[in-house]
Amino acid sequence: MSISKYKPLEIFIEKSIVSHPVTSRILSKLPEQHTRQIDDLSDFIAQYKPNTNDFTPLTKPMILANQKSEFLKFCPGTQRHICCGYQILNLVNNCEINCSYCILQGYLNSPFITVYVNTEDLFSELDQKLTQHPAKIFRIGTGELADSLSTDHLTEYSRELVSFFKDKKNCLLELKTKTTLINNFINEPHNGRTVVAWSMNSAKVAAREESAAPTLEQRLDAAELCQDAGFKIAFHFDPMIYYSQWEKDYSAIVEKIFAKIKPENIVWISLGALRYPPLLDKTIRANHPHSKIVYGELFPGIDGKMRYFKPLRIEMFGKMYQWIKKIAPDVFVYLCMESSEVWEKAFGWTPKNSAGLKKRLDQLV
Ligand code: SF4
Repeated sequence: MSISKYKPLEIFIEKSIVSHPVTSRILSKLPEQHTRQIDDLSDFIAQYKPNTNDFTPLTKPMILANQKSEFLKFCPGTQRHICCGYQILNLVNNCEINCSYCILQGYLNSPFITVYVNTEDLFSELDQKLTQHPAKIFRIGTGELADSLSTDHLTEYSRELVSFFKDKKNCLLELKTKTTLINNFINEPHNGRTVVAWSMNSAKVAAREESAAPTLEQRLDAAELCQDAGFKIAFHFDPMIYYSQWEKDYSAIVEKIFAKIKPENIVWISLGALRYPPLLDKTIRANHPHSKIVYGELFPGIDGKMRYFKPLRIEMFGKMYQWIKKIAPDVFVYLCMESSEVWEKAFGWTPKNSAGLKKRLDQLV
């Protein structure tokens, strides 16, 4: 099955970076696309409202811009839950994969995919921050405000990032994706400093809620190629979604993972259950009328987000933990944004707090 790649219908370019080499590199791959210069990204997004009927998720308009604030930021996590101390590299904003549960629909609320091209500023900021804190461990990812690789066939950022991080002793880069776009970096020397992570789900959820993404089998084929190239691999089951056949389907995908990927090559697996701010409910219903996720029994948690009832989350996490541990007892499994009580009841142990979880993950780095 061929996999469709993102190809913007139209490209808007901030005047200050029109002649930037990364701008030229991206435009050289899109010679027929209509381009238009703009003065400033924020003013433009505030004023220009494109007709969303003119494009599909895979042809969303792109903005090439200059990142004026810091590229590296802490993941905001969520209040009163255990978070992992991850840091986010903000190189691309927004995504065309169009998952029904995607938080970016509410968080960014923008039809544009913004790509920041001033990579020289990115690398000098990283150099400065990493050398200023040589004793600190940095776990850095590009997959929070975008899929790490879904625009990589245009930007080629993965190759530059893998090359940059290969010499960094106190840092690990995680490229988190649902795509198979690994060609730009797979032959790049990486020195074990890049983890390639795939977001996984049950086959039913992937087909219904992640319709523009490659199948789970295609993702696993790509993961196997990265394994063969010596990269460490990670998997994220987030969000797990409850439905009547969930046990059969989620245990099946756990088995499929270990049929292709050796446990010793998996650095971590995370689990998280469906959650979203209450206001996103309306957006999901409007953008994804076929989706059933909002019809689950979800209740506001202590952070205000809608979540499954706690005993159900504990059951889902506990069973996944057992299925994984039965095949791969040494693989580190962690929960994303859950309380110490949920950890204890689902896994039989808890890192107690965010610092405890960060320490465990840093030790793996
Ligand atoms: S791949 Fe990730 S960032 Fe892209 S739409 Fe899906 S959930 Fe959102």
